[in-house]
Amino acid sequence: MKKNKYVIIGSGVSGLLTANKLLQAGESDFLILEGRDRIGGRVYTDTSIDVGATWFQGHHVYLSQLLKELTIPSFDQYSDGKSVLVYNSMAPAHYFKTDTSGPSAQRIVGGSISLINVLAEKVKDKIICNCKVKQLTEKEDTIVIETNTNTFIASKVISTIPPKLATSLKYTPELPKDLKKVMDKTHTWMSNAIKVGISFKTPFWRTKGFSGTVIGQIGPVIELYDHSNADNTEFSLMGFVNEGLRGTSPEKRKSRILKYLETYLGEEIREYTNYIEKDWSKDRCTACQHLNSVYMSPEYGNKVFNSTYFNNKLLFSGTETSAHYGGYLEGAVYSGLQAAKVIMQE
Ligand SMILES: Cc1cc2nc3c(=O)[nH]c(=O)nc-3n(C[C@H](O)[C@H](O)[C@H](O)COP(=O)(O)OP(=O)(O)OC[C@H]3O[C@@H](n4cnc5c(N)ncnc54)[C@H](O)[C@@H]3O)c2cc1C
Repeated sequence: MKKNKYVIIGSGVSGLLTANKLLQAGESDFLILEGRDRIGGRVYTDTSIDVGATWFQGHHVYLSQLLKELTIPSFDQYSDGKSVLVYNSMAPAHYFKTDTSGPSAQRIVGGSISLINVLAEKVKDKIICNCKVKQLTEKEDTIVIETNTNTFIASKVISTIPPKLATSLKYTPELPKDLKKVMDKTHTWMSNAIKVGISFKTPFWRTKGFSGTVIGQIGPVIELYDHSNADNTEFSLMGFVNEGLRGTSPEKRKSRILKYLETYLGEEIREYTNYIEKDWSKDRCTACQHLNSVYMSPEYGNKVFNSTYFNNKLLFSGTETSAHYGGYLEGAVYSGLQAAKVIMQE
């Protein structure tokens, strides 16, 4: 069996960025093992809709810098026109206008997947998809990595599996109790989210003076935004489905969503060309079997993640390990950069 110097588990933003940094430092003896049949992790653009990560802000400095380095352009979230606020099903909707004079949330041109595709370019021959890691065993100066398909051996392993999910792997020797406890308590950001994306031939809401933003905790969609592409050739709305509809059948959920949006944006909503949903809680490469309630600001970047394990051979990385904007793409970028530095020093 061939031994690699490094094995990175996960091909999300953090794993791919670490791989790029290893390569830039002249380290090419590595593999990236990915459990899904696709790369990108929680960045997933399906039929031009970002069903995973979408927005970033100017204060996300590491991500902004990375996009600049990779010459990936971004554009302002569309917000011109009347936005709808639904706060009471009995009362008429309220309308508001977004202040467009301030800095806007940014979207990545081509969808967030553009970042993944560019990061994957130089390392694509090192990525193995459909390869789900099940067990990590420390054996002398190596780690044996058992997956659903093959066994791999590496001198060092960087796991970017969300920490809570990573507790379901088997570790020999067992991980320290304090680490396991923190990992288990680290909520996987957005793992409860259900997204919906609806595409149209024309942006009918814009024509009617709407921004496409519909906000309201009581409806089947709690947030909805214009999700048309940067050059205004593809027109979509995208948002978050009320989690109360998770158990409802897909047909019923869709019917309730369309009816609700018809009330506030008009009957043209029925003339969609594409309708998609993604419930991340059902995706076993992001979420655990049991749903946890979510705190608005979970604590990320616990200091246990500053240490390495298995005698300096195992490092836990990924956005939830980042003390800097943990949970966000920015945290994934920061942890990816840090992981490369740490693992090459050890
Ligand atoms: C619905 C949703 C909306 C979001 N919106 C935003 C947003 O607007 N702005 C923002 O900044 N952030 C947003 N985020 C968060 C953002 O997507 C994450 O911060 C970022 O993508 C995390 O990257 P990562 O590499 O740390 O982890 P991940 O992307 O989760 O990568 C981990 C990788 O490990 C793989 N994996 C898991 N288990 C195994 C295993 N056993 N073996 C092998 N591989 C495995 C996974 O398949 C995955 O590819 C959103 C996330 C979701 C789900």
